[in-house]
Amino acid sequence: MGRKKSGLELYLHIPFCIKKCDYCDFLSGPSTRTGQESYIYALLREIKAVSAVEKRSVDTVFIGGGTPSVPECDVMEKLLQGLQENFHFSPNAEITIEANPGTLTSEKLALYRKYGINRISIGLQSPKDEELEVLGRIHNYRQFLESYQMAREAGFSNINVDMMFAIPGQSYEGWIENLRTVAELGPEHISAYSLIVEEGTPFSKRELELPDEDTEYRMYEDVAKVLGEYDYHQYEISNYAKENRECRHNEGYWQRKDYLGLGLGAASLIGNERFTNTRDMQEYLENSGVPERIRKDREVLTEKDEMAEFMFLGLRMTEGVSKAEFQEYFGNAVEKIYGEVLEKYKRQGMLAEKENRIFLTRAGIHVSNVVMADFLL
Ligand code: SF4
Repeated sequence: MGRKKSGLELYLHIPFCIKKCDYCDFLSGPSTRTGQESYIYALLREIKAVSAVEKRSVDTVFIGGGTPSVPECDVMEKLLQGLQENFHFSPNAEITIEANPGTLTSEKLALYRKYGINRISIGLQSPKDEELEVLGRIHNYRQFLESYQMAREAGFSNINVDMMFAIPGQSYEGWIENLRTVAELGPEHISAYSLIVEEGTPFSKRELELPDEDTEYRMYEDVAKVLGEYDYHQYEISNYAKENRECRHNEGYWQRKDYLGLGLGAASLIGNERFTNTRDMQEYLENSGVPERIRKDREVLTEKDEMAEFMFLGLRMTEGVSKAEFQEYFGNAVEKIYGEVLEKYKRQGMLAEKENRIFLTRAGIHVSNVVMADFLL
């Protein structure tokens, strides 16, 4: 099997937030300065240990969370220095940091730029203060605009804005208005996810006035059209970019490039092996210098697993999967392995084929979970 060997992607998890949003089930929470310092030192120990054996150059870095813009400059500088000293970066590496309004300052932005961070992803969710309040966000729209402006002034020419639809109380018209408000600002990239009510979150215990299924369908369906008017193109189920501004880090994930997740609960794919770091903070702090001790849920993928992942991750992208690449990786034609499933969904109008690529149609995108599940062997 000829798996593509290329550079490496890095993900760094910063599990701190000022306060938990009411819908959030990510691995994150409030912290003290001492807690942040201990964590960053532990992360540096992991970086040192891992970089001693991993010598490939790094193509993309994603510093995610949580809210990576929470730690103060002096704490964050230690981490960014450590990254720079221990890894070798490709000349045009994409380095992204996630940030939330209400935590960004011009000093922090200048620091990120100094260490080569060239993309920032700002969590907005909604430009309406009453919706931000419903979500339990810590910021208002004015604070977002200030952060956005500061990021531009600091020299960020590649900005993503995260948005959310199907928020309790939101109408179809209200959502389209939100999209237009943000698109008019002109960020290079917009991610638009629907609210998922996750078990164990405050939302799961509340009576929520959610948009009905038909409204949610239209809310999703019209994102591509509305953003198209502002020169964004959809390149993945929930992601829209201006020309050549797709997130390379995420594309690498969907294309199953090797990526190494560092930090609490971070997931990795190296070769045909997947593993996830411990989610237990104490365990992480004590053992991060010996990565073998913190890596859990190790799974060596079989060829069938890899084929299934190739298909269901690849189909997330609007350009779909390349039949030639499938053949090259697995030494078999995709039709030989998935002939029946492909035929079934083509007949139903959920999948289509063009220029040797297989992709989801508009109808297929709406039921992508069902279609993708059928590729498990
Ligand atoms: S800012 Fe993001 S990670 Fe933090 S609590 Fe809110 S949704 Fe979760």
